[in-house]
Amino acid sequence: MNEKILEIDNLTVSFDGFNALNNLNFSMERGELRVIIGPNGAGKTTFLDVITGKVKPTVGQVLFKGKNLRRFREHQIARFGIGRKFQTPRVYLNLTPRENLELSCNRQKNVFSTLLKPQPSPERKTVSTLLETIGLVVKADTPAGLLSHGEKQWLEIGMLLAQSPDLLLVDEPVAGLTDEETLLTGELLVSLAESHSIIVIEHDMEFVRQIARKVTVLHEGSVLCEGSIEEVQNDPRVVEVYLGT
Ligand code: ADP
Repeated sequence: MNEKILEIDNLTVSFDGFNALNNLNFSMERGELRVIIGPNGAGKTTFLDVITGKVKPTVGQVLFKGKNLRRFREHQIARFGIGRKFQTPRVYLNLTPRENLELSCNRQKNVFSTLLKPQPSPERKTVSTLLETIGLVVKADTPAGLLSHGEKQWLEIGMLLAQSPDLLLVDEPVAGLTDEETLLTGELLVSLAESHSIIVIEHDMEFVRQIARKVTVLHEGSVLCEGSIEEVQNDPRVVEVYLGT
């Protein structure tokens, strides 16, 4: 449990001289569910971009499972075991959840072996296990376009799980969801945290309270403070940043 899955040292990311991330230090142990909060412009998206390799550090380094990611490209980093879920679900709306998951399971296979010999259809068990995990067994054969926004979010999480990531990056998973969907999304993430490391970016403080054991507050590209939800909410620096809200 004490193994560090992610270590970020003295990270600065500059865009034309402006530091979106500014000497940021962060570390996370395997099996943690960490929530990142912070006002608009704090650097949350850039933080995820630099972990996935979309953006490269100007100064400093990102170590994933001890490996420095600097010289790797985005698709290589994804293959090391980092899966990112964007705010808007990226699922094929004309395909069913089962078909979407089958595609994701196939994508995991080596491209060259696929070219050399036809692949058998993906193991039923894997797809059905994923459907159970994300709570979509009953909707397995319904076109994804007919699913609710929450169900689409869960399907996309299932598609990421098909890639067997060690670290899941989840950007605002409950924006636009109903209260019940929000609650179920929290339960899903908490249960996934038993076997994955997860970073969630979120604004909905009720939801943060539901899922978070440890919260990191970003402000002006640096870590302002870290701790339990109660600790960060009572920290005068956080109160000031959020103007007393
Ligand atoms: P958050 O996700 O917390 O709202 P961002 O990471 O999107 O914050 O942005 C942090 C800061 O960096 C903002 O001031 C933003 O305008 C700036 N920024 C982000 N990406 C770029 C870019 N590609 N070029 C210039 N400035 C950027």
